Amino acid sequence: MNNSFRHKMDLSIRFMVSRKELDIAAYLKEQLSVLDDILLGKPYLAVTFYVPGELLALFDVTALYMERIAGFGAANRICTSLETYRGMTGFPYYGCSYQLLFDYMINSGILPKPYGFVAASFACDDAWSYCRYASGKYGIPFYFMDVLNGCDVNSSEYLAAQLKELYTELQSVFPQVLSVEEVVDASNKAISSKSRIDELRFKYPGIMNSTQAFKMFTIYNDLGRKEAVSVLNQTLEDLQQKAVTYAYNNEPRVLWLGILPLYKNSIIQEIEKKYKCRIVYEELYSFPHEQLSVKSFFNDLAKRIEKNLFYTPEKRMEAIISLIDKLEIDGIIHFSQNNCRFLPPQVPLLQRKLSELGIPFVEVRGDAVEPECFNENQFFNYLDTFFEIICRGVK
Ligand code: SF4
Repeated sequence: MNNSFRHKMDLSIRFMVSRKELDIAAYLKEQLSVLDDILLGKPYLAVTFYVPGELLALFDVTALYMERIAGFGAANRICTSLETYRGMTGFPYYGCSYQLLFDYMINSGILPKPYGFVAASFACDDAWSYCRYASGKYGIPFYFMDVLNGCDVNSSEYLAAQLKELYTELQSVFPQVLSVEEVVDASNKAISSKSRIDELRFKYPGIMNSTQAFKMFTIYNDLGRKEAVSVLNQTLEDLQQKAVTYAYNNEPRVLWLGILPLYKNSIIQEIEKKYKCRIVYEELYSFPHEQLSVKSFFNDLAKRIEKNLFYTPEKRMEAIISLIDKLEIDGIIHFSQNNCRFLPPQVPLLQRKLSELGIPFVEVRGDAVEPECFNENQFFNYLDTFFEIICRGVK
């Protein structure tokens, strides 16, 4: 089973190389080497999305970000009966399928048991509460980083102190293999490249395929590692080349919010072809261009988390309005993940604001991880109506 998952990742890399999608190939290659280390018995920590990669890059332990590996698992359809597994394990019926699939991967031997879990209370409650539950179930350590989600100095200082405490805890268990200077340098280089990528994306809307952005948004978890710098530099180089012949043909411009069905690799291209539109941006591949300094390492990491567009619903709303403006967006699709108690509850607020601004908006629901919980006909029915509205309004 291990080999079959590994084999599928290896095939994806070859496929990307054959399509000359070299940044995705490099990115997957790096993930495959992480998987190889783990399969060879190197201890690893299972980590939630917003625990900064820089903190983990300092130590001699592999960090496996759970949403990312579950995403690869879903894209490769490694489990076809996740709902049966949910019933068998007593996993809450309202729990998110990302954590469920990760748990399945451990239980079925696709992944060995981690050394421990590292979780942040931002962004969602499902991820960290699963880690706490699973640390008890598997009898392994649980490291927790609390995020207050406030916007005052106290919450910022509290977060920086939490980060420092996590660093001290990890330092007491794992040898430090990189200096803070090295990690800060790699992180800043990656962020500079990402900032130049975003400049190009704003100057030439649609220059980057959204499918590519969705495949690579978890590069955020690699900040602090030099591999992230080369992947982002490759993306930047590709976009610079595309910019030379860039032309936009006045198709409606769509902004994609939330995630997307991971097992349907071609969904974005299908939508673009069927409705003659371009999905020009997606919020997930967007993260703050915050540079770090060695002197204020923990405070800067805390600031970066606070500047994240998902930090509060208000921040997200501001970011969306700014994207509408910069990219001249004609309409917005929001994919709401089943059972997610983080982004879908913000939909009424978004709907209200976007209706005031006269921006067509559609919410489509489904499960990004479980194909059996996605009704494709219904999905396209909603989009039919949405694009009829857009086409009536587009110049
Ligand atoms: S989809 Fe929602 S509940 Fe699931 S991991 Fe992401 S934020 Fe958390």
